[in-house]
Amino acid sequence: MSFSVHGLAVSRGIAIGRAVIVASSRVDVAHYFVQTEQVVGEIERLRHARNEVAAEILKVQQSLHDLGPSDAHPELTALLDVHLMLLQDEQLTNGVKHWIVERHYNAEWALTTQLEVIARQFDEMEDPYLRERKADLEQVVERILRVMRGVSSPVVSGQPHPGQDNAVDVPLVLIAHDLSPADMLQFKQSVFAGFVTDVGGKTSHTAIVARSMDIPAVVGARSASQLIEQDDWVIIDGDAGVVVIDPSPILLAEYGFKQRQGEVERERLSRLKNTPAVTLDGQKIELLANIEQPEDAVGALKAGAVGVGLFRSEFLFMGRNGKLPDEEEQYQAYKRAVEGMQGLPVTIRTVDVGADKPLDRVAQRAGEDHLNPALGLRAIRWSLADPAMFLAQLRAILRAAAHGPVNLLVPMLAHASEIRQTLALINRAREQLEAAGVRQGAVKLGAMIEVPAAALTIPLFLKHFDFLSIGTNDLIQYTLAIDRADEAVSHLYDPVHPAVLHLLANTITQCQAQGKGVSVCGEMAGDVAMTRLLLGLGLRSFSMHPSQILAVKQQILRCDTTRLQTWAQTVLAAEDPAALMTD
Ligand code: PEP
Ligand code: MG
Repeated sequence: MSFSVHGLAVSRGIAIGRAVIVASSRVDVAHYFVQTEQVVGEIERLRHARNEVAAEILKVQQSLHDLGPSDAHPELTALLDVHLMLLQDEQLTNGVKHWIVERHYNAEWALTTQLEVIARQFDEMEDPYLRERKADLEQVVERILRVMRGVSSPVVSGQPHPGQDNAVDVPLVLIAHDLSPADMLQFKQSVFAGFVTDVGGKTSHTAIVARSMDIPAVVGARSASQLIEQDDWVIIDGDAGVVVIDPSPILLAEYGFKQRQGEVERERLSRLKNTPAVTLDGQKIELLANIEQPEDAVGALKAGAVGVGLFRSEFLFMGRNGKLPDEEEQYQAYKRAVEGMQGLPVTIRTVDVGADKPLDRVAQRAGEDHLNPALGLRAIRWSLADPAMFLAQLRAILRAAAHGPVNLLVPMLAHASEIRQTLALINRAREQLEAAGVRQGAVKLGAMIEVPAAALTIPLFLKHFDFLSIGTNDLIQYTLAIDRADEAVSHLYDPVHPAVLHLLANTITQCQAQGKGVSVCGEMAGDVAMTRLLLGLGLRSFSMHPSQILAVKQQILRCDTTRLQTWAQTVLAAEDPAALMTD
């Protein structure tokens, strides 16, 4: 019977497909389809790994046995027996075979899928002893995966192969309790057509990456990952924030129709790609792209962006088991982005880790659970706490600037002392390159305004920086004291709260009075419901995911800024600005 769960709409469009339930810790397992002729080989790869794990366990058992009865560890021996038994378990082996043969999943994907199926059955068991065997099963599967990591499949492809059996032509949607931004990077190269998570807020970084991938997504869907079963048919309505499970034929037809309408609309919008973004009264508007990886430059150009307004460099630092990219690796990545933009400016933001972008789960400091990471060692604070790491990044950016126009943007500044230290380190990085005779380029310096303290001291920032970029995601979070990643308070995350609007308006006006560039690079910039207001407040530079550029441009083409200016002042003065937004 069909039923639905509700969450937050974070990335537009409709996806219809079969559910793949994945524990977040297992998202980094490769997900790809194998060809029919590779099925046997894939099963063999798995069998081989399983035998190897069995041999490892038998060896440990033997060494325990060799220790003699006095040193024997009966508990350990019994545990190893359980692991051996689980390795031979028919439900596991037959189930995995099923996913490989019927669905053409690669072995790792098939294994983790079947693990989720069995884990659920364990969860439902009454007997606590049996329930606890789930952890053993997970350990066994982890061991098999570890062995398989060393023996990869002959073909690794991110996309379904055209012309394969129907089984693999069915779109798949990923359902998880949680996905970290690092998980999302893995997910970016995978086969899924949409995703749903139990947790997350509208501007959580998981939601942001979903938007950059331009696939339908719903976050904060509470118990979706419990209610949805492996292989269920699911509709994700990324516009309404609704997930329909086991839809009736009528619902399928209705959403199928909506999906096609969405495609027609995209097609229509794509015609605007080369149209200049100019308002009815002749105001030129700059539409820039937000990117996470150098390769995203392709999509930015395709969408008609006139530059990159925000390259979130921290994505180069995530999902690497704590090993950070060195100067050379970063330089190559920034250079690829600069070259990819073919002479258009690229704004590289220095690393913004912390809060909901931890470097990686295991690398977190022990005993930190009670701390609030959004108020902790995040962004520039993290960089200033590790000058050697920060200098390496600065040198890499300055070197990339020799290949095209680069702006250097610093996140989360709030104190004059932080500004002084940052500028001193930029100078030091310049001197180091000079002393070493390494080529570097000129950069414009920008500061992000994303802490109320910064928005209230704009003159200080204008004294030191060439341009400002307003990070509304954090500015809203810190002004309203609302964790942007927490769905429980997402109803209070209000971009048009009068306090937020005043800080925005104040920043824009002061920049303009001094002839300095100002843009918005938070999610607000790509939200068509906000375009008129931002234009009315005087904003002329917007930075957003490439997928949002054409829809925002369409809005701009219909606007007259002289009229919007007066209206925006009324919104700014209103007690309840949201009520005026549809005027
Ligand atoms: C912001 O805070 O608005 C912003 C653009 O930065 P991030 O979303 O990466 O924190
Ligand atoms: Mg931010």
